[in-house]
Amino acid sequence: MEGSLQLDFLGDLRRTHHCGELRAADAGKRAVVMGWIHRRRDLGGVIFIHLRDREGVTQAVFHADGDAVVHKRAEEIRPEFVVAVEGTVALRSKETINPSIPTGEVEVVADKVWILNESRTPPFPMEENVEVSEEARLKYRYVDLRRPRMQRNIILRAKVALEVRQALYEQGFLEIETPFMTRSTPEGARDFLVPSRVNSGTFYALPQSPQIFKQLLMVSGFEKYFQIVRCFRDEDLRADRQPEFTQIDLEMSFPQQDRVFEAIEPVMRRVCKAAGFDVATPFSRMTYDQAMRSYGIDKPDLRLPPFHMVTDLFEGANLGAEGMPLVAIHIPRTGGLSRKERDDLKPLGTEKGLRVFEDRKRLERDFPQAVAALRERVKPGEEDLLILCSAAEKPRSQRPEEDVLKACGQLRLQIGQKYNDRHKLLDPTDFKFLWVVDFPMFEWDQEENRWMAAHHPFTTVLDEHIDKLTTDPAACRAKSYDLVLNGVELASGSIRIHRRDVQSKVFAALGFSDEEARRRFGFLLDALEYGAPPHGGAAIGFDRLVMILAGETSIRDVIAFPKTAKGTDLMCDAPAEVPERQLRELGIALRKT
Ligand code: ASP
Repeated sequence: MEGSLQLDFLGDLRRTHHCGELRAADAGKRAVVMGWIHRRRDLGGVIFIHLRDREGVTQAVFHADGDAVVHKRAEEIRPEFVVAVEGTVALRSKETINPSIPTGEVEVVADKVWILNESRTPPFPMEENVEVSEEARLKYRYVDLRRPRMQRNIILRAKVALEVRQALYEQGFLEIETPFMTRSTPEGARDFLVPSRVNSGTFYALPQSPQIFKQLLMVSGFEKYFQIVRCFRDEDLRADRQPEFTQIDLEMSFPQQDRVFEAIEPVMRRVCKAAGFDVATPFSRMTYDQAMRSYGIDKPDLRLPPFHMVTDLFEGANLGAEGMPLVAIHIPRTGGLSRKERDDLKPLGTEKGLRVFEDRKRLERDFPQAVAALRERVKPGEEDLLILCSAAEKPRSQRPEEDVLKACGQLRLQIGQKYNDRHKLLDPTDFKFLWVVDFPMFEWDQEENRWMAAHHPFTTVLDEHIDKLTTDPAACRAKSYDLVLNGVELASGSIRIHRRDVQSKVFAALGFSDEEARRRFGFLLDALEYGAPPHGGAAIGFDRLVMILAGETSIRDVIAFPKTAKGTDLMCDAPAEVPERQLRELGIALRKT
């Protein structure tokens, strides 16, 4: 593509209209539009181009009887060239109106053209519904981002960020930056480390979240803080996790849990509205225990009904392992499942250690009274699926009953998802927000043989459980909460510990010696001794939020420059080796592993 084509200078040429702007009312006006060649058609002398910019597409036409020099130039144009066109806006004839684009009633009859830059043939077409491999998309991300779907997603992301800022500023939150080069913060993942050259042999950690800093800002008296902030977690990569991701992080002083919810709900309502969805507030609430008992998961998808514990109805029936719960899973409107589809349910249960009873007739024959009582309790409709599940064996774990419920919860979701396509059970635009509250304070870590903080070690406990912190950690419930949307954990947060004595008790329950606690979080412990107010907050997963609002299923589609599932950047080829000299300066020698 070298050299043969003469390029024009932009000079002082100004655009008068965006490519999505012109309407019938503009007919007769002069217009200068600029953008990329989306499509070009040469109909034996009459050349049509679709010029595309961020705002849309405009058709320009070069008539055969126009200026010969201009026409010659138009012939040289190819897809993705960067071009400016000047001309007169004209109404299209009735037959040539294009109702699929907002500018489809008009075209620019061009009398001047500037070729501002050429382009190699793009690696894939710009069209909306063309399947392109993710590898190609990420390698040529700058081209991929030009495609209308990605333009819409990234523009929506910017809009959502703006709405969040406005909504929080209106409530008195201040946007305050916290450092990226810092000391490790405990959020349960590994830190990314940055070696210090000046202080050889030492490392900064990139923050997993601004948790400690936002708490310190409360100690400093700023009262309401927020930040749309990048966080870094060096986790083993699971599908759709990014090593760097964005949170809407917030913290406030003197709140009860409800005050935090009252701050977040209007933000959610507003961003949903910006994306075209109305949601009602206040959101539903449920305790962790209720969620486990009714959905077998701590992030219930409320678009499907809860399951029912029916152990009491089938007493003595021996349908599963002794002492384990019997659960009725109810999925509405699946229609009559075929024999094969029914048979398929069993192995789904077996792989989770469950026995599945799906043969209604047989159950009715064997347990007529229990089935009648079950129907009375669940009230299934004609088209609904109702099955029973029990544990094949009692799980050998700390919480066997909970494990059986979790397995039932997975099965419920799997069946719901399986028949979703057919019956539209899980409408992605039906936003069912839910606060899950009162999580366990601690989780037992088999490997480390000790209690771990279920949220993080700065989360406080229910007031009435303070005395149980060291005597009965398993029973302690935390003042922590998650915001769940359609089965996705969208936010989590907690009321924090603001008293030094309570913090010491929690560290003791976690098995940290005073020394260890001091070494890791000494500055926070000090700060708690200088008048820390009661405080609490939350962090909302910004990428996930935008993903759901955009109707996408991967966060990579709402991040301009994401990493692959393996944590690599295919475009700039990162991570990459560095020259020996750079390592030497940092005092680092690589070891073969
Ligand atoms: N720092 C927590 C997180 O990133 C959220 C919070 O407690 O505010 O999940």
